[in-house]
Amino acid sequence: MDSTLSLYNTLTRKKEVFVPLNPPMVGLYVCGPTVYGDPHLGHARPAITFDILFRYLKALGYKVRYVRNITDVGHLENDADEGEDKISKKARLESLEPMEVAQYYTDRYHAAMRQLNVLPPSIEPRASGHIIEQIAMVSKILSNGYAYESNGSIYFDVEKYDKKYHYGQLSGRVLEDMIANTRELDGQGDKRHPYDFALWKKASPEHIMRWPSPWSDGFPGWHMECSAMSVKYLGDSFDIHGGGMDLMFPHHECEIAQNTACSGHGAARYWIHNNMITINGQKMGKSLGNFITLEELYTGKHKLLAQAYSPMTIRFFVLQAHYRSTLDFSNEALQAAEKGLDRLMKAVSTLSKLKASGVSTVDVSDLEQRCYAAMDDDLNSPMVISALFDWVRIINQLYEGQAQISEPDLDRLRKVVNLFVFDILGLRDDSVNDNSELLGSLINMILDMRMQAKKDKDWATSDMIRDRLTAMGVRVKDRKDGYDWELE
Ligand code: ZN
Repeated sequence: MDSTLSLYNTLTRKKEVFVPLNPPMVGLYVCGPTVYGDPHLGHARPAITFDILFRYLKALGYKVRYVRNITDVGHLENDADEGEDKISKKARLESLEPMEVAQYYTDRYHAAMRQLNVLPPSIEPRASGHIIEQIAMVSKILSNGYAYESNGSIYFDVEKYDKKYHYGQLSGRVLEDMIANTRELDGQGDKRHPYDFALWKKASPEHIMRWPSPWSDGFPGWHMECSAMSVKYLGDSFDIHGGGMDLMFPHHECEIAQNTACSGHGAARYWIHNNMITINGQKMGKSLGNFITLEELYTGKHKLLAQAYSPMTIRFFVLQAHYRSTLDFSNEALQAAEKGLDRLMKAVSTLSKLKASGVSTVDVSDLEQRCYAAMDDDLNSPMVISALFDWVRIINQLYEGQAQISEPDLDRLRKVVNLFVFDILGLRDDSVNDNSELLGSLINMILDMRMQAKKDKDWATSDMIRDRLTAMGVRVKDRKDGYDWELE
């Protein structure tokens, strides 16, 4: 755990060496999905980014409590506290209970995450299950004087807060500029100022999702849930808060303001934001017709898709870019990712067949050092992949007998490759399942018997085995000291 992991902290705008508050514990909170629609390409990137952070922290020996929420109430159609609740709207359109909608899309999200080999978080709290905690926090902010009541709704008093603390510290905004850029007529409703935001909203008579509170029957503002649930499970000071860059303002900025108005300081020490995915250079959006769900990617059923792409191809594609860079989706880029992943997985399989011989002519510590250094440098997954590809070449050279590796070095190489490919990058070899492993062992056994027949100069048996296997679609290639085979 004497790691030198450094992470780019959005709050301080620089890379900082990560030092947890209470090692070996690490508290990690990530904003999860609003469950009112099918999981799409935009969900894949934050999920995979924070999955490799979670995996890497564990690989470094930390005990990580990873909290990722489910937003099932309070996320209105626009961020200015206006419009219908996203889940209620879907429920109304489909004649379902709002919680039926939330459950259905939560299940869909979980299934998509499993396909992407994203590990489940340690705790996955729902906003609707934490109304009491949110009401308690709103009361605290009110009694501390940073909120006001207006017709049964409670709003955060941004101007008053900004006099003591800086509103905008995360996103780099300045309140005066925000005021200058806001037209007073913009749908103000009950708010004193357009940039104030709702902590509690009084429900209109037709609003279905509602709870009693000291102020009105209503529902919490969207930003409240993350403040209340992160503090409940990780304490009022915890290590890392993550999410997509699109959440930085207003969502995360409001979270910091709420926590600070409660306890005098923000809750998270490191804020980490992943960049967005664009599609052929454009932002993804339903109105642009380039909105692609994960299921459409897996089946290839979307007009922009030239073919289907496996979940592991998507994962590999996401990992090929640094999480803070934009990532442009295109068929060409995904096809290249598919080829790259295939090459990597073939090398991993070749590695399992390698035999040690004498003294090493290769330096395994090079791979190990480069992989750790890349991950330590703000989770630089593309650099890890580039180091692994240099070793794909070396593994193939070892296999062709153009280089040598000793027994201990071969053990170490297998450990490092498995650790980074499977445990940390979280890739999975989808061509392998239990049956194909058994099939492989059986083919190897038959080919070992053929080797024995050849040694015994029993050419009839040797040829018969080869011909029968060829007829079954197993192509056998003789090598100097053994054999290769592949399925046609
Ligand atoms: Zn959140």
